[in-house]
Amino acid sequence: SAFAKHAAILSELGLKPTGNKGLFDGQWGGSGPVQTAVSPVTNETIAEVSTATIDELKVAIAKAKKAQEEWRLVPAPRRGEIVRQIRERLEKHKHALGSLVSLEVGKIYAEGVGEIQEYIDICDFATGLSRALNGSVIPSERPGHFMMEQYNPLGVVGIISAFNFPAAVAGWNVALALITGNATIWKPAPSTPLISVAISKIIQDVLEENNLPGALHTMVCGGADVGEYLAKSSDINLVSFTGSTEVGRKVGTIVQNRFGKLLLELGGNNAIIVNEDADLELAVRACLFAAVGTAGQRCTTTRRLFLHEKIHDQFVERLVKAYAQVKIGDPLEEGVLCGPLHTKVAVEHYKKTIEAVKAQGGKILVGGNVIPGPGNFVEPTITSIDANAAIVQHEVFVPILHVSKIKNLEEGIKFNNQVAQGLSSSLFTQDISNVFKWTGPAGSDCGIVNVNIPTNGAEIGGAFGGEKETGGGRESGSDSWKQYCRRQTATINFSGALPLAQGIKFE
Ligand code: NAD
Repeated sequence: SAFAKHAAILSELGLKPTGNKGLFDGQWGGSGPVQTAVSPVTNETIAEVSTATIDELKVAIAKAKKAQEEWRLVPAPRRGEIVRQIRERLEKHKHALGSLVSLEVGKIYAEGVGEIQEYIDICDFATGLSRALNGSVIPSERPGHFMMEQYNPLGVVGIISAFNFPAAVAGWNVALALITGNATIWKPAPSTPLISVAISKIIQDVLEENNLPGALHTMVCGGADVGEYLAKSSDINLVSFTGSTEVGRKVGTIVQNRFGKLLLELGGNNAIIVNEDADLELAVRACLFAAVGTAGQRCTTTRRLFLHEKIHDQFVERLVKAYAQVKIGDPLEEGVLCGPLHTKVAVEHYKKTIEAVKAQGGKILVGGNVIPGPGNFVEPTITSIDANAAIVQHEVFVPILHVSKIKNLEEGIKFNNQVAQGLSSSLFTQDISNVFKWTGPAGSDCGIVNVNIPTNGAEIGGAFGGEKETGGGRESGSDSWKQYCRRQTATINFSGALPLAQGIKFE
């Protein structure tokens, strides 16, 4: 039965139906109100986890700060070795962890495991990087002077994460923050406490086996109050926030006000443009995965589709057909491609969006209905609507794809760029000049600009993030690690004289 399956997953990861502790700062605790993980498939309780009070959070921050004072002196490649061991342990429990993500969030098993794989991949990346946290040597204009730039640890990194990537987003931050010599404090989303406890137990084991303080990977379950305290506390040197633009704006303002460092990964309103010269077969498959995958609950989900007028009708026909074949159901069942929405509230957002589409002159081409039953299931939906309609300008975190016709690529780029968000974007074309128009100065204004692949499914090697109301942060690969560091320019005078820069004489 489903319950036996759930119980087996929990028990492999050391979780119980009740009495799980939601604070780890070297010890397990948390005497605040209980959070409940609810199955989006049945709306039944899976398990309960306690939260931390603000007083407990204060103690946890102090412990993390103290732990970092030791950790910052450990050579970076040795820190990388610890992250490698975390990676090994995650690999060992990959299937249970992936199933737990699936159980708690509602995404299909392949995507749940994919998320743990992403955590593993960033650990690999961070382990290698721990031997390449290079600074640079800069030629000094003064004789007998040595000038260099280097990267020192920041201190304590606060990580506030969203429900939809409850493992991978923490991994992106934890792996890079640890190799760069920081302690981390992670506040997961209130509806996904179980995966956070499971991952924290795995990391606790690795830290303990290496005689390192557990507070290097502190985890604090809680709601907005815990998140807000992290934003306000001047002991948190970097706040890495992933979530909605609305909450990100609040958090960002608080952190900026105390001149703390910020990394914001906020909402997207991502578009695909299919030009007249596109490989349509490829584009149909890409649109289906990008709009329906994770039931439309990825920050990079395709929400807007701009079709060249010459291919519009045949493309819509093929895409509608592909939607009809999507199996909706229990995300842990084989063959299912679309699971439920995460919460009942999201189902209400879905209903309201369908109403708004109709009120604003749009048509429903396929889907549009809530599926009755105990779970939060809805039909993945395609609408036909004016690209300028009010509802199209917002991110609604459900599987609704708005389709509009374009006359040419220029119009597509204009529509792509006209929204407030700037996360991900894709163009389907086979014409090389369109590729460089799209990726160039007058092309897409997003942080992620793809060609012939969908808006979602980023690899960890590249920097991930977006512009405008998406917040401007970059996480994961490339040189994102530098954000977890205190950048320093050092000039060392070994000349025995005191020549001043710019030839200034001061005597
Ligand atoms: P959310 O903004 O509701 O919550 C995010 C986190 O903020 C949670 O941990 C929540 O408890 C916390 N929080 C809530 N109020 C707070 C406050 N006042 N101060 C501090 N913290 C507070 O987002 P969600 O519904 O969990 O996630 C969906 C959103 O996240 C979507 O908008 C999605 O696009 C975005 N997202 C973005 C990325 C990205 O990389 N750009 C990745 C994943 C999700």
